[in-house]
Parts: sequence; structure tokens; C-alpha cells
Amino acid sequence: MTAHSSPATALPDEVRSAPLATRVLVLNSGSSSVKYQLLDMRDGSRLAAGLVERIGEETSRLKHTPLTGGESREQIAPIADHEAALKAVAAELAKDGLGLDSPELAAIGHRVVHGGQTFTDPTVIDDSVLAEIERLIPVAPLHNPANLTGIRTAMALRPDLPQVAVFDTAFHTTMPESAARYAIDVKTADEHRIRRYGFHGTSHAYVSRATAELLGKAPQDVNVIVLHLGNGASASAVRGGRCVDTSMGLTPLEGLVMGTRSGDMDPAVIFHLMRVGGMSTDEIDTLLNKKSGLIGLCGDNDMREIRRRVDEGDERARLAFDIYIHRLKKYIGAYYAVLGRVDAIAFTAGVGENAAPVREAAIAGLEELGLAVDSDLNAVRGDEPRLISPRDARVAVAVVPTDEELEIATQTYALVGESNA
Ligand code: ADP
Repeated sequence: MTAHSSPATALPDEVRSAPLATRVLVLNSGSSSVKYQLLDMRDGSRLAAGLVERIGEETSRLKHTPLTGGESREQIAPIADHEAALKAVAAELAKDGLGLDSPELAAIGHRVVHGGQTFTDPTVIDDSVLAEIERLIPVAPLHNPANLTGIRTAMALRPDLPQVAVFDTAFHTTMPESAARYAIDVKTADEHRIRRYGFHGTSHAYVSRATAELLGKAPQDVNVIVLHLGNGASASAVRGGRCVDTSMGLTPLEGLVMGTRSGDMDPAVIFHLMRVGGMSTDEIDTLLNKKSGLIGLCGDNDMREIRRRVDEGDERARLAFDIYIHRLKKYIGAYYAVLGRVDAIAFTAGVGENAAPVREAAIAGLEELGLAVDSDLNAVRGDEPRLISPRDARVAVAVVPTDEELEIATQTYALVGESNA
């Protein structure tokens, strides 16, 4: 194993050009898909990226994009399972001289959704880690089985290579019990491991750190509210680099209004739907996770389409937008109170990075809290972290693009470097 722990930029040129193991493959395995990126950790640059979807169907699709030059390649043909998917990915990478057997590959970093209370940090995977991820399946029935399949497949392909699990929940394990516990019977909660775990942790970690950097400060010196607004959406309160509260809970259903999820709701709605609506548990699960949120309110979950409809005077789209913003404002207020002092609010993910009207509406009317958005700055588009608050604002409001793959690769490489130092 030749992984190197030094940050690349600190390496002299002659060392940088040597064939060190500096590449990390990041795998995000879903039930019928695998997303991947290959990064070079000397500078965090991307060498390749791609996606296999509809695994197990006749029309499986693999899209591979070499990022060092060359066209994207796409194939539509049956890919029976994750093993076949990963072999197909390896074959595509090999065409560009980036195969999984390359000595330059230092490790594979796997996104794992649920690490429970056990995994507070990225972890090199061995049999006991696999067993623990498996033990957590009851609290993550949709995600952990697929993540495990991806890991096992990758381990079979490269048994000698360090494989690292990076958990979506890990960043939130610093939440105090007062934020992590539901106010239900303690014995029942403990027996079924019911507590608030939170998700999108890799993004909240990356964005809160990048926000501190944007302010020119160390993460331990700033308090940040991170608003990760994608199709799934979550907020977090980060004090001095540590998460103290987040909006998702036992599952990603809690919290903000999302593309297709309801977010917060009186749990008695569920009893009502069962008793009065005659709905089954599975039907209610589907209703709240897949047919609620923006799509349930107005029939669209894409914020671009919703804004287009709002601009045309569509009342349903307007109401959906208003409910979305109302919930967002409530969380900003709540986390302001939790933190006591806020240095920055960071908007990230598809909606947060792109939808200026969402940012403007969420901050509107909060001047008394030191919060404001400068409409010219807010209208600027770009890929770089940037401030959108007026120069003299007490609290910075920022747009900070997230990069979960880079964060997984960075955490993976740091760990593999450390363990081989
Ligand atoms: P996820 O990873 O949860 O699937 P993303 O972070 O990629 O989601 O965000 C996807 C969402 O971002 C889309 O559903 C859409 O609502 C929103 N989005 C993407 N681009 C824009 C844009 N230019 N303007 C407004 N919303 C956008």
C-alpha cells in the first residue's frame, strides 16, 4: 500500500510526478443505481464520473464521462446486478487508463446512509464494520442494504484495497441528547433505537467548513446554519464546526418541506389516515415520502417549474412555494435560537445554489436578526462560494456549493493516509 498522507499541494514537484497512490474512487450505491467519481487527491480534481441506473432491468443505462478529455460514453443494455454494474464501470475506467487495478488507486470510499450511533467517523471497512452496517438495516431499510451490496461487490473486486465507509449520519452524532432524543418513552425509544440521527451529514460538514473558509475564519470560530435544499432538504445548526441540531430525524422524512416528502407534521395524521382513511402502513409511507411536499401540494417538485408557474400567477404553485418558505423560515429562527449567535447562513444543493427567489424569500423580513440579502449579489450565478448579504450585514448570508463526492474522497484519503503513515 503506497497511499500518501501529505496534502498534495505541499509535495515537491518531483514527488508529485511519481506514481503515488493518490486516486480515490467514490461509490454511491443505491438499490438500482451506482453513482461514481474518480478523484485525484493531489488536488481534488476529477478524473472520471458516471452513473449506472436501472440495474436489474432490460434497459440498464451506463453513462461514463472521462473528465481529463474525451466524450461521454453511454450504453443501454441489461446489467443484471451490482457486480455486473461495477465490472462495467471498471471496464469503462480501464478504457481511459484509470482501471481499478491501477497502482495509483489508493482506496474506495463508499457513501453509507446510516451509521447509527456507532459510526461517528469514516471507518475502514472490515467484517465487523459490515456486520454493524447490516445490524442497522431496521433503521435504514431502503438504503443500507444497497450500500452493503455496493461495498461487498467492490471488496470482491479489489480485496487488497482499503475500502472506507463515510456515513451520512456521522456529522450529526455530536448533537446533544436534548436535540437527538424524541420526547417519547425512553425504554421504547432505546429498544427500537428511535432517535434523531439526521442525514446529508457529508454535505453539512463540507458546507459548514467551506463557509468558515469563505469568512476567512477557522471552523471552530464560527456558528453556521446550513440549509441543504435539494430534492431532499435539511437544515443544520453548526456551532464551532460541530453539529448541534439538524432537521431530519430517525429517517429523512422529518423537517423541511421537500420535493416529495412532507417534512414536519403532527404524527397523529398517520393514525387518522389509518383509522378514518383506511390506509395501510405502506400506503401512508408512500404518501408521505413520495407524494407529499412540493409535488403533493402543486404537482411539481422541480423548483424551476414551480417558480415559472408562480410567475404566471398559478395559485397552487404560489401556495406550495409559500409553505416551503414558511417552514424554512421557522428553521432559520429555531436554529438562530439554538445557536444564540449566528455568523453565517449558507444555502446549498440544487435549490439552495440556484434558486435566488427561495433565498430572498427565506431571509426576507429577518432584518431584526441581522439578516438581509442584497438582490444584485443574490442574482449572480456561479460555482464558487459567495456572499449574498450586504457588506455591512451583521450575519453573512452565503451560497456555498456542496461537493459530497469530494468530501467522501477527502475523508477516505485522510483515513487511508493516516493508517499507512
Ligand atoms: P438531490 O441530490 O436531492 O436529488 P439536488 O441537490 O440535485 O437534489 O437538487 C435537485 C433540485 O434542485 C431539483 O429538483 C430542482 O428543484 C432544483 N434545481 C436545480 N436547478 C435549479 C435551478 N436552476 N433553479 C431552481 N431550482 C433548481
